Amino acid sequence: MMISRFAPSPTGHLHLGHAYAAIYAYDLAQENGGRFYLRFEDIDSTRVRDEFYLAIEQDLSWLGIKWNATPLRQSDRLPIYMEALESLKALGVVYPCFCTRREIAKEVAAMSHAPHGPEGALYPGTCRELTSFEREARVAAGEAHCWRLDISRAASQTGSLVFEDEVKGITIVDAHLLGDVVLARKDIATSYHLAVVIDDAFQQITHVTRGEDLHEATHVHRILQSLLGLPVPVYHHHRLILDECGKRLAKRDKAHTIRALRESGQSPEQVLERLVE
Ligand code: GLU
Repeated sequence: MMISRFAPSPTGHLHLGHAYAAIYAYDLAQENGGRFYLRFEDIDSTRVRDEFYLAIEQDLSWLGIKWNATPLRQSDRLPIYMEALESLKALGVVYPCFCTRREIAKEVAAMSHAPHGPEGALYPGTCRELTSFEREARVAAGEAHCWRLDISRAASQTGSLVFEDEVKGITIVDAHLLGDVVLARKDIATSYHLAVVIDDAFQQITHVTRGEDLHEATHVHRILQSLLGLPVPVYHHHRLILDECGKRLAKRDKAHTIRALRESGQSPEQVLERLVE
């Protein structure tokens, strides 16, 4: 059975871009007699606000979207993500990183050819070079640290991989697109990359549909699936909804929220109409 999902963060109201992602996943499941799940990506308690869980559900319902089962909350699942991190530690493919943002920026500025990804400079790998003795001493001394994926080691363990992207076809994984990504943040025991991979497997998602801005992330996700022995869904990275100036919609941009459109008197049909290509 086809299973799709929509995974918003309850850190603001849904805007047209979210509505497109939600309707895309919902329609796919509907058209194929499948299931559609709602999952709240709410691991960042500093940004999550209680009122947005209900507001998101209300906006989706208003658009005519119905989901199966009780929505999953990632904040309820931290011990599961931590267990996965332990497995990755046992494989020797993660390392603690003690760098502050400022230290990383300084290091990048000092490099003549700092590696770059789609969102700017990648982590330059400073803490990857620490000895295990240094790592253990600094962790034992209580120094704040996140955990990063050692992508080179990870890729050498997994060997070459592919995933099916319904837009781009069979895609060969390029492990280095995002560098040594964070798998557990300094302040939170997990990260987007780790949690999403575990939850897609847990909810038996067969089709991951999401914005094309996450295409590079899928390469990392495929590697994590291989390391953790998880099933591999089919991916569909869809277009992003842009504003009148061609810019990506942002949560702070109130004019395009579903709520604002509803309050201005638009019907769900009119809102959905705006999302048709
Ligand atoms: N929370 C992400 C977003 O709203 C979704 C990530 C995903 O679908 O994997 O863009």
